[in-house]
Amino acid sequence: MNITKSAQGWTIALLLLLIGLIMSAYTSWTPSNGLLDFSLIGLVVWTLIVTHMTIQTVTVYLHRTVAHRGLSLNPFVSHCFRFWIWFTTGMSVKEWAAIHRKHHAKVDTLDDPHTPIYFGLGSVSQLLKWVFVEGVSKYVKESHNPKTIEEYGHNTPNDWIEKHLYALHPFLGVGVLLGVTNVVLFGLPGLIIWGIQALWIPVFAAGVINGMGHWFGYQNFKREERTADGKLRFPNVAYSTNMIPVGILIGGEELHNNHHAYPVSPFFARKWWEFDLGSVTIRLLCLLRLAKLRTPFTATNKVQGLYYRMFNMGA
Ligand SMILES: [Zn+2]
Ligand SMILES: [Zn+2]
Repeated sequence: MNITKSAQGWTIALLLLLIGLIMSAYTSWTPSNGLLDFSLIGLVVWTLIVTHMTIQTVTVYLHRTVAHRGLSLNPFVSHCFRFWIWFTTGMSVKEWAAIHRKHHAKVDTLDDPHTPIYFGLGSVSQLLKWVFVEGVSKYVKESHNPKTIEEYGHNTPNDWIEKHLYALHPFLGVGVLLGVTNVVLFGLPGLIIWGIQALWIPVFAAGVINGMGHWFGYQNFKREERTADGKLRFPNVAYSTNMIPVGILIGGEELHNNHHAYPVSPFFARKWWEFDLGSVTIRLLCLLRLAKLRTPFTATNKVQGLYYRMFNMGA
């Protein structure tokens, strides 16, 4: 580390200490409680809410809206999602969309940026290695491939704030502001919440979906299914799997095989007993006129899950 960088680090540390001292003198902030003084249960619930907000942002905005253009969002809502991505993950929308589109284009071949097929997830140790290390390192490696970003990164944000803040300082949000916010709100325990928030997407998106979504679970749609004239019925399915039928924890991304069968559909549930929480969010945004589906509902592009039948939504 050179002298300038270490001086910058010390300046930031002293500045944070000073802010902490001023806050403890003039507000109810203490290092152990922060401004909000939540109980342990309160802290757990808060962590679950903010991490789930990030999951919803990834599935509804990054995945279904930007990468696959299954719906369009009101510009304000869209920007809230963009801010949250920068603030809690530091990921570039353009890079994420490009790498994901390449994954679909080259699914489960040697050119797929993050298929686990050639890695082998046969043992528990390999599975853990993928979920915690390999998944995210493959993503990061591909994000440094300019050819991929150029070839697949079209139709992604490229405005003033993207150039001057989000793309220019990708880790200012998650690396500094999110940590400061958490310490202000919760004191030093906020640092633990910060760590969990920062790890949530690398583990659940890069690790679990990109790995286990092509290895573990059941398939509604099989790669070898053919039409009457001999063509593959679902050419994009490959080895993708639905991990579990109820998609809540990862916002519906659990239904990865269904998604590969109908990649442009913003709805991932295909059976009456499957549930996709992300499509509930989309449906709510549509009802509030904050989102619009790109293509009208068709037999293959409507949600066929239980909640669709119960509420007769979107026909
Ligand atoms: Zn996939
Ligand atoms: Zn996709």
